[in-house]
Amino acid sequence: MEEIALRLLKTYGILSLRYLAFAGPLYLLFYVWKKRDFFKFKIQQKYPDNPHIFREIKYSFLSLAIFATVGFSIFLLRKNGYTQMYTNFSDYSVAYFIFSVLAFIFIHDFYFYLTHRLMHWKPIYPYVHKVHHMSTNPTPWAAFAFHPLEAIVEVSIVPIMVFLMPVHPYTILIWVLYQTGMNVLGHLGFELFPAGFTNNWLTKWSNTSTHHNMHHKYVTSNYGLYFNIWDRVFGTNHPHYTEEFEKVKARTESLRDVKDVDNGTASVEPAFQ
Ligand SMILES: [Zn+2]
Ligand SMILES: [Zn+2]
Repeated sequence: MEEIALRLLKTYGILSLRYLAFAGPLYLLFYVWKKRDFFKFKIQQKYPDNPHIFREIKYSFLSLAIFATVGFSIFLLRKNGYTQMYTNFSDYSVAYFIFSVLAFIFIHDFYFYLTHRLMHWKPIYPYVHKVHHMSTNPTPWAAFAFHPLEAIVEVSIVPIMVFLMPVHPYTILIWVLYQTGMNVLGHLGFELFPAGFTNNWLTKWSNTSTHHNMHHKYVTSNYGLYFNIWDRVFGTNHPHYTEEFEKVKARTESLRDVKDVDNGTASVEPAFQ
């Protein structure tokens, strides 16, 4: 029993470190250290106040506890032979390994779109997904700021995949890193991709920070996670998505250029949401 508790705690520690390693440096860089220089890339030209950020962190750590419990349960199931996971890398070809990583990402992208749409359904939204939408101007800390029920829905893709097809732990590791990176980027609040990105024949299929930021601002559009496929198929992209993206890229003012700068906060628009 003690061993189980220790292992669970260790899993929670690793997941927490991953969250801190992705969100922490980006927050420090964009919201503290280079705040003035990067202001022109800020999608919404204002900053959330500290209670909003603390709420994002609090809910994220709660979600990570749920992720750790599910992750550890999968470990126990695998140990007892209940999953399709394989640990001997040579059991399957390298081509299959690459296929499994891509399949994991694409299936998750579709799973996220469907469950996200479901969580925006009126009878469910106020009780579950509203927690994530309390961030109308999110920071990287919002990456896992979910209601516990939503955290269960989000992490359920892992048990689904390990029962569905043979998956190596490295497949999950690569997916976890990609997923965390894209999730943190979606909540960054700053647009880093170049002008024209949402119009280019190839890059338009990838979502951007602006895409998810607009989801937090306007709520009823832009539901996708990694790719801009399902929002196009189901017609749920915000009609002004490209326009908004280009508006951010056309800005040239740093925070120090904005008039009436007071303690690092521009007074051209309300300082806080
Ligand atoms: Zn949503
Ligand atoms: Zn979000």
